[in-house]
Amino acid sequence: MLTNMLNLPKLKILYMEESEDDYRFLVETTTPSPSYCIKCGTVSNLYKHGKKKQLFYDLPMHAKRVGIYVNRQRYKCRECSETFFENLPDMDVNRSVTNRLISWIQRSSLEKTFTSIAEEIGVDEKTVRNIFNDYVAELEAQTDFRISKWLGSDEVHLLKNYRCVITDVENKSVIDILPKRNKDMVISYLSKLQDIDKIELVAMDMWNPYKSAVNTVIPHAKIVIDKFHVVKLANEALEKIRKANRQNVSVKERRQLMRDRYVLLTRRKDLNDFDDQIKLQVWTDKFPLLGQAYELKEQFFDIYEAESFKEANKLYQNWLSNIPKELMTYFEDLIKSMNNWEEEIFNYFNSPITNAYTESLNRLIKTMNHVGRGYSFEALRAKILFTQGYRKVKNKKKFKEVEVTFGKLLPDQFPIWAQIGYEWVYEEIYGADFSTLTKAMEEGSF
Ligand SMILES: [Zn+2]
Repeated sequence: MLTNMLNLPKLKILYMEESEDDYRFLVETTTPSPSYCIKCGTVSNLYKHGKKKQLFYDLPMHAKRVGIYVNRQRYKCRECSETFFENLPDMDVNRSVTNRLISWIQRSSLEKTFTSIAEEIGVDEKTVRNIFNDYVAELEAQTDFRISKWLGSDEVHLLKNYRCVITDVENKSVIDILPKRNKDMVISYLSKLQDIDKIELVAMDMWNPYKSAVNTVIPHAKIVIDKFHVVKLANEALEKIRKANRQNVSVKERRQLMRDRYVLLTRRKDLNDFDDQIKLQVWTDKFPLLGQAYELKEQFFDIYEAESFKEANKLYQNWLSNIPKELMTYFEDLIKSMNNWEEEIFNYFNSPITNAYTESLNRLIKTMNHVGRGYSFEALRAKILFTQGYRKVKNKKKFKEVEVTFGKLLPDQFPIWAQIGYEWVYEEIYGADFSTLTKAMEEGSF
């Protein structure tokens, strides 16, 4: 009956002790003595050479921690005089835990903090971390995300730090999250990628370390700055002007201006509500400079409606010459960025990033930020990348002429004598799908 309690049939329970938080078992194995020496291979020349009590942790039981002391038999070989312990097939002897506890820790480490797992089962936090790291290395080795021709790198503020999200722009999926966004880290990531020659384009925000990492590792790739990151600066300029005007109004008006700022930040063509149109009129009449800035913001957005690189360039030059001296300081950041990243920003007009990509990435980043709290960075990353259900998988068919072997045949491909070649289906995995991930996070099933 006690044997059943642990459900490890190779162990015989000799003794059990129970306290408020813990079970302690004393056990020995029921397996027969080994027939040969594991050191020299000599058969039937072993003798028992004492026992040693070793502690192994196991799955919690009845909400108590479980420790198993194994009275572990030692053997000595008459031939080579070496000693060795009996084999414990249910245990991971290096980590001093049962194998089933390893699987349990692997699963739990994606859900809970390492400290709470350690506390729950009685091992130290370092053991949990090591088991988790081994597990991630294993998952990483099994994972072979396809690289498509368009890579993206973006930043996300996650668990108190800026991280770098690496994406597949065409497939709208996450292929990695780097713990930091510095140049060395991006270089070492890119250097490990296979099929790097396939990458033709890299989308990024205006962050120099990304740019120099890409130029170092994939110099042939063209860098494209997403419209989103550029037009954001036009809205920021407008906000600065709105704030500068706060000084000249009453407290009541100031509050109203704050509440109405969305009207300024909305594109005119999207301002459908008549009230909103009136609000815009009132504020731009009251503050002519704000009105001018609003027009400049609108014109700047219009550049992105251009059909070609050439047209965009012309619109931009025109826009630049329209800025009055009084407004120059407010648009400084935008203009500086346009100067520093001119080539990369205008590359957009040859290789436009879709709104769908930008919108779903931004939504994911926002959601990730919420859900991420409570995870360690490593666990969050692992869960995003290695959960099978979040992945974007495409079935591909390939016709291959092959020598037919039984092992490779699928059931529907008989008869065998007709096989000179056959069509087979394989999967290509493109990272974790933005919208599947976001949905899981929003619904709470992540
Ligand atoms: Zn031996």
